[in-house]
Amino acid sequence: MAAHYDVLIVGGGIAGLSLASALAGSCSVALVEAEQELAYHTSSRSARQLIPSYGPDVVRELTVRTLELIAARDAQLPEPVLTPRSFMLIGTEESVRAEGSGHMNAITHDRALKLCPALVPGTFSAAGLDTGSFACNAPLLLEDHRQRAEAAGADIITGARVHSAQRLGSGWEIGAGQEAFEAGVLVNAAGAWADELAVISGVEKLGLQPYRRTAAIVDVEHPVPGHSPMVAAADHTFYFRREGTDVLISPSESVPSGPEDARPRPGDVERLIVKLNQLTTLGIRGVRRAWTGLRTEVADGVPVAGFDAEAPGFYWLAGQGGYGFQTSSAMAELAAAQILAGQGTGHSTVADHHPASRTAEALAATRWSIRR
Ligand SMILES: Cc1cc2nc3c(=O)[nH]c(=O)nc-3n(C[C@H](O)[C@H](O)[C@H](O)COP(=O)(O)OP(=O)(O)OC[C@H]3O[C@@H](n4cnc5c(N)ncnc54)[C@H](O)[C@@H]3O)c2cc1C
Repeated sequence: MAAHYDVLIVGGGIAGLSLASALAGSCSVALVEAEQELAYHTSSRSARQLIPSYGPDVVRELTVRTLELIAARDAQLPEPVLTPRSFMLIGTEESVRAEGSGHMNAITHDRALKLCPALVPGTFSAAGLDTGSFACNAPLLLEDHRQRAEAAGADIITGARVHSAQRLGSGWEIGAGQEAFEAGVLVNAAGAWADELAVISGVEKLGLQPYRRTAAIVDVEHPVPGHSPMVAAADHTFYFRREGTDVLISPSESVPSGPEDARPRPGDVERLIVKLNQLTTLGIRGVRRAWTGLRTEVADGVPVAGFDAEAPGFYWLAGQGGYGFQTSSAMAELAAAQILAGQGTGHSTVADHHPASRTAEALAATRWSIRR
């Protein structure tokens, strides 16, 4: 016999887990994850930085709200999820101006060098600093969501890939692994597989595209001082930041991929090391570990949150691209409010079918809750 829930969330990454903890207690919730462990894919492969000046306007607003929500929760945790860590953009005047707006202030070349003495003078001409940026203890945040969701009664089932989903009366009938479920609302938080899940469910795809991004922890001759910001090239060719006595580096590539368990390609990290050893005095000696994740987005890069206008009870929570952590709590707050308002009615709370307007419209409706 099928287990029945008000809401069934597909995907145990930061998107699905944040929503499970936001919803649990208000309705019956199950989360199903294909892998044996939660957050196996992109959510365990991020750079763990929350940057209010990064991304389109909607993302920036969601980031500010996410920071508020996590900070409020931090007050109740034995150790904090958030630790202040500024974010610095370097490049030409034009590139820094084009990329850095909102929460970012222009700083002098000298100040940039003081903040990050590893930079070689003359390799950049302009810099911007976002002092409202935070390092995020991602494993702790994920675990806190899991614990809160389960404590409030949510069921979390791993090793259960959704292989079938069909509309049944006013809800959904779902097959996942060996299990069968019925749910009023089916939430698509399947990351790089979100369009695939739509197809399985008989719902039109949104055109979500996963893009590869690689990162590595490297051993350096000259460790970065503790107060140094995360440093990124405004032309999107690299970023680096301190990771204890090591350094995290990324070539910032954005290469289209299918949904898969992505792995680094030979040469990507090695070429970046050659480049960073010219642009900095880090003295990178070797790679401790490297990984690749998929940043999945729709064409305009705005995350998708809302009921599908043509598939009653099918809720999209996808397309978070490179902002999945920094938008997570705010997206979950919005999604929970919309799901609880529209739950079981088969009624779409977001009229426009265009994905870009879904988050924007949802934001407009809850603007009162966003700090300005
Ligand atoms: C190198 C790199 C650096 C990044 N740095 C940052 C950063 O500093 N800050 C930030 O905010 N973001 C960052 N990101 C982006 C962030 O990691 C992602 O936006 C976020 O992890 C996406 O979370 P998700 O839950 O949507 O997807 P995922 O973590 O991929 O979770 C989706 C889950 O759905 C499951 N699934 C798929 N299909 C099915 C199915 N049919 N049945 C059951 N389960 C299914 C998958 O197994 C997967 O576990 C970075 C990404 C990369 C790659």
